[in-house]
Amino acid sequence: MLPPKKTVIEDTEENRQICRKYCTICPNYKTHHLEKFSPTELFCAQGPSSCTDKKEIRCFCFGCEVFLKNHLRLGYFCTRG
Ligand code: SF4
Ligand code: SF4
Repeated sequence: MLPPKKTVIEDTEENRQICRKYCTICPNYKTHHLEKFSPTELFCAQGPSSCTDKKEIRCFCFGCEVFLKNHLRLGYFCTRG
């Protein structure tokens, strides 16, 4: 039997704009200044932030249209990828 397909999130400007409404204002992002590390956004498509000193405080992904549309789970993509 084949393993379940992993959801692939497209790295588009539209998705980045949606992401900015949530990630950039979340406690994790602001506390750790994730704008200073690469990637700076759309962690669910681009993988985790290269910031190494990250605690999981609170994630705003759960209200995001990209999250809901793609049936994503768990959140904290900036720390877990
Ligand atoms: S699910 Fe999270 S990381 Fe992905 S676009 Fe939405 S807010 Fe950004
Ligand atoms: S993935 Fe979640 S915790 Fe990380 S910056 Fe985006 S909203 Fe915040």
